Amino acid sequence: MPEGLRAYLRDPFLAQLYQRVRAAGSMRSISVDLTNACNLRCQGCYYFSEGMDEGMDPPSDAEFEAFIQRELDRGTNFVTVVGGEPSLQPDRLRALHRHFNINVATNGLIRIPTDGMETMPLGVAVWGADSTDRDLRGGGKIDVFGQALENYRDDPRAFFYYTVVPGYADEIESVVARCVENGNPVLFNFYSDIDHLGPKFDGRNAFGPALEAIDTVINRYPDMILLTRYLAETVATGLLYGQQWGHAVCTSLSIDHPVNQERLENGNPYNPHFKAYQANLADTRRCCTGIDRDCGTCFDVWEHFSWVMLNMRKHLGSQDEFTNWLTTMYLFYFINRLVDVDEGRRWLPEIHARTSRYRSIPELLASVG
Ligand code: SF4
Ligand code: SF4
Repeated sequence: MPEGLRAYLRDPFLAQLYQRVRAAGSMRSISVDLTNACNLRCQGCYYFSEGMDEGMDPPSDAEFEAFIQRELDRGTNFVTVVGGEPSLQPDRLRALHRHFNINVATNGLIRIPTDGMETMPLGVAVWGADSTDRDLRGGGKIDVFGQALENYRDDPRAFFYYTVVPGYADEIESVVARCVENGNPVLFNFYSDIDHLGPKFDGRNAFGPALEAIDTVINRYPDMILLTRYLAETVATGLLYGQQWGHAVCTSLSIDHPVNQERLENGNPYNPHFKAYQANLADTRRCCTGIDRDCGTCFDVWEHFSWVMLNMRKHLGSQDEFTNWLTTMYLFYFINRLVDVDEGRRWLPEIHARTSRYRSIPELLASVG
């Protein structure tokens, strides 16, 4: 163990976080489109924008079972389930959960049953306050957020996965308040303006007010916010130790896809196990969220978690930097219920307190608009 790391771990709190992550073991992850069907057509959905549903007939039951066995044989132990809408396939969700640790991204409209899925982490989407969310996700008619609140009230499996739209940052405090009152923690994601809806939606150089609002809700609900200021800033700025976010540094790329081969040889870290499976569970694509979309539109928090997690060495320069890395690791494990959730919930305020010293909000506002 490097001497710097040994010194940082003399801090008892950091030592505990580190021990929990080590005890949980390393992750060998994949992502899976469980279905190519969805009961919504959200504006800016990466899945339908690139036609990822087309020609992706779902596998038969026998093919599905064979897929599970292949991945078990390959050593996979963690599956991010996306799509399509996973709640449309509860039996297959249950089957995946029997064999792997999983995390499910759902739009919240249909409640995923508890039976056989009692400990399944569920990221329930919301994209803004009532009318914003209804316009972006519900075709101006369906109150998806209201239905999701009802479906997952006080459900310990569920956290809200709040995709903040840059021009609607003033809604963050009220949306988070409703999630918290509903008994659900909140993880932030950042809107990608794939459909070119305009300046209010385009995140490039526009997430400053959102970061400020996220800082406010962290201070207000430190035991309910699942994203640190450090990771929020990393996503919004797209910067990590002088590197700019994009395909050349992205760590969650299908290792078997020809389009990634040059990238995988460029020396930057990557997940050596990862594959993003399409809904036929036979083909992979470039990454979980894209086939050939412009990476400049990508503000996906899940992928940025991985970027930080796989760049431990860069964070060893000081105890504060190591804390930024370790809290990112721990939170990912906590969100995915790979560590004790009651303990993690108690530790969240301390985690936020220790990651509050990264950059000042005025400095950030100047750099991201
Ligand atoms: S719910 Fe998800 S998969 Fe369905 S349209 Fe919306 S973003 Fe796309
Ligand atoms: S779209 Fe995002 S996740 Fe996909 S390769 Fe580009 S940066 Fe990585």
